[in-house]
Amino acid sequence: MATFKFQGIKIEEAPETAVPKCPKCEKRLDTVWIKTKGLGFVEQKQILMCPYCESLLGYGTYAITL
Ligand SMILES: [Zn+2]
Repeated sequence: MATFKFQGIKIEEAPETAVPKCPKCEKRLDTVWIKTKGLGFVEQKQILMCPYCESLLGYGTYAITL
């Protein structure tokens, strides 16, 4: 389980109907684009993009352990 450390903020599960908004164009993100770049099996970097205005929403790296 992930541990969130926001002091004084209550963390709640978002309702099923909640759809995040793009911080730039404010469109509802029912879809996000993922761009994956990486060295195949070893490590991949992923970029999350808004499909409407192509803003970068976030990125991450993950490693696949075999
Ligand atoms: Zn956008």
